[in-house]
Amino acid sequence: MSLFAAVEMAPRDPILGLNEQFNADTNPAKVNLGVGVYYDENGKLPLLACVKAAETQLVEAARARGYVPIDGIAAYDKAVQNLVFGEGSEVLTAGRVATVQALGGTGGLKVGADFLKKLNPTAKVLVSNPSWENHRALFINAGFEVDSYPYYDAAKKGVDFDGMLACLNAAPAGTVVVLHACCHNPTGYDISPAQWEQVIAAVKARNLVAFLDMAYQGFGDGIAEDGAVVGQFVKAGLSFFVATSFSKSFSLYGERVGALNVVCDTKEETAKVLSQLKIVIRTNYSNPPTHGAQVVATVLSTPALRAQWEEELAGMRNRIKAMRAKLVERLQAQGVKGDLSFITTQRGMFSYSGLSKPQMERLRSEFGVYGVDSGRICVAALNDKNIDYVASSIAKVM
Ligand code: PMP
Repeated sequence: MSLFAAVEMAPRDPILGLNEQFNADTNPAKVNLGVGVYYDENGKLPLLACVKAAETQLVEAARARGYVPIDGIAAYDKAVQNLVFGEGSEVLTAGRVATVQALGGTGGLKVGADFLKKLNPTAKVLVSNPSWENHRALFINAGFEVDSYPYYDAAKKGVDFDGMLACLNAAPAGTVVVLHACCHNPTGYDISPAQWEQVIAAVKARNLVAFLDMAYQGFGDGIAEDGAVVGQFVKAGLSFFVATSFSKSFSLYGERVGALNVVCDTKEETAKVLSQLKIVIRTNYSNPPTHGAQVVATVLSTPALRAQWEEELAGMRNRIKAMRAKLVERLQAQGVKGDLSFITTQRGMFSYSGLSKPQMERLRSEFGVYGVDSGRICVAALNDKNIDYVASSIAKVM
């Protein structure tokens, strides 16, 4: 009998399956809104000019590639800290943040999850309902029991904040709560700074462990605006986790550049936490890769490149916002009635369109417009060439 005879076929990733279906579709008008990446006005994945410039510099310097330290390139970790917590902030000057370079935001979440499992093996994890699908799977694979807290309110086309808060206020001490810092994936609905204060109060009162996932900083309202929640947690005097990613904000998806930041109480505690994070990394993949992190560190620490990045990021953010406004306008022009303001209220790459699974199926089969069955569409895949077709297709299934 074969060693692998008992191995069962794992379920396919639903989004990758959608891509395969899209590629096989012969409809010349087809549009893929199922993706989780930003496309530019020509429907292409951008290569940022600041990235290209940094890469040219790095190629010219032509350095040998030794191993990187377990916790990553020091200049990169420092640049991440300054971006996430603000240069000169008290947590940084006090040495209260343990930061490790990670394999994208996913890697940051996984290093944090493995560390938390050792710290508190019986803790439960709460993720938003719905959430990025990998949250649940990642924490389950790290050995946790994962439940969800209410988040999306379909009837209200917004956040069920009362439900969310009630759930947090009923959670046992030590529960790990995964929170989207900005640009909630998949719904696009974020909570307000005042609501964040209430979440923070619940985290504090119930002794919960906040794990912020910030995969889209700069895609919502701006770098500082999107990251403001981190400052709110710092101000509350909490110890917490922040996984960050440059996949979207630098369009460096394939380079796997992210980080895990753990805010601790004291400098001494931080050193101990860092030492444990390094064990997790060492026993998983030893140390991270060089290229992507060097690119990001170079851009963030070179004033001219940094300015260029901020401009390019604003370009992506504003194009998404323009597409949201245009989608509303075109849907109305197609005769769609009712309040569509939810589309422009949402933030980030995604929009929960409110369309049902049968409607999403019709969009695919009749029009070649591909979105996720949940009704999620990627606004960042819309452009001036496809938006009229998408709007008229949506209007026809409504
Ligand atoms: N968290 C969320 C909410 C995401 O949407 C994503 C990417 N789709 C990630 C984390 C992971 O990002 P990365 O590609 O950097 O691992």
